[in-house]
Amino acid sequence: MIRMKAALVEKARAPLIVDEVELDDPHDGEVQVKIVASGVCHSCLHAADGSWSEIPVPIVLGDEGAGIIAKVGKGVTDLKEGDHAILSWAPSCGQCHYCVTGRPVHCEVRADKPARLADGTTRMRWRGETLYRFGTVASHSEYTTIPSSSAIKIRDDVPLTTVALIGCSVMTGVGAVLNTAQVPAGATVAIWGAGGIGLNVVQGAALAAAGEIIVVDMLDNKLEFARKFGATHTINASTTDPVETIRSLTRRGVEYAFVATGHTKAIEQAWQSLANAGTCVVIGMPGTGELVQISGRGIAGSERVLRGSFYGSARTRVDFPRMVELYRSGKLDIDGLINRKFALDDADEAYRALAAGELARGIIVN
Ligand SMILES: [Zn+2]
Ligand SMILES: [Zn+2]
Repeated sequence: MIRMKAALVEKARAPLIVDEVELDDPHDGEVQVKIVASGVCHSCLHAADGSWSEIPVPIVLGDEGAGIIAKVGKGVTDLKEGDHAILSWAPSCGQCHYCVTGRPVHCEVRADKPARLADGTTRMRWRGETLYRFGTVASHSEYTTIPSSSAIKIRDDVPLTTVALIGCSVMTGVGAVLNTAQVPAGATVAIWGAGGIGLNVVQGAALAAAGEIIVVDMLDNKLEFARKFGATHTINASTTDPVETIRSLTRRGVEYAFVATGHTKAIEQAWQSLANAGTCVVIGMPGTGELVQISGRGIAGSERVLRGSFYGSARTRVDFPRMVELYRSGKLDIDGLINRKFALDDADEAYRALAAGELARGIIVN
């Protein structure tokens, strides 16, 4: 067991606290990672502000990180002390139905309740009580103890303070385009939300050589980020009707619509903006219990598809090193996504800036 510093939420809507917590040594099949950098992700904000009410507290946030293997538990053969790793919030057993059919993000070996490891415990305590972990990895901390399948070894000549973002926002956004939707060259694409995930959908679409890339957001500063990453048109939905504008830009609607926000209205608009046989890919997660309304009448005749994308349909062992190579070759801009860096002690300020829409991506550097 070690004592370390971590940023935690004691109860929803309260400021983040940085305090000393206890972390267990790795069990069989686990590793302990010294965290180098940890991205500030919108899904953590949902846990902090109480909109995902099923997430328990107190909890250490952070679902996007990278670090160096510090301790290796029994039975771990593919990692050793000193290896560089990007953390994955989707551990996988390698043997269940979904793992062997190439969809490891749906691995069936997981805890019944959220914010715990597969055996139902968390390996962490604060003031003698169970401390929960967001997104398995709980990366807003100095160390984390995780299943070895959540630590994906990468080459050690790329900066961990940059490639940490591959662990959630890059994988989720770029993966939605390349893995989930498999957007072909020249396709018309629209994206709702130009936050950390949405900007990666934009650069994924640019990487896939999509034709028109139309980005919808409510904030002009975010639309400006989107243009930097390859948007060909931007629409401020607070002043302009996106459905009408997309129809007039594309005539028949878009072939692919991606929703990278948790607003149900955005899902409805994306659906209405599709061309016949188009696909709407939902990445964002609305609040607990929220419903989406789409007209039942229009589904059959238009042959439109509504589908989800979870973690960019990641196969992390293949995709993380692949994203690292795209970064090295200059095809994926990760440095440009990071517009603010924070110390772990300033985690609360990082979440304030995220909630205020000031971040393309913020990162906590230990
Ligand atoms: Zn995330
Ligand atoms: Zn599995």
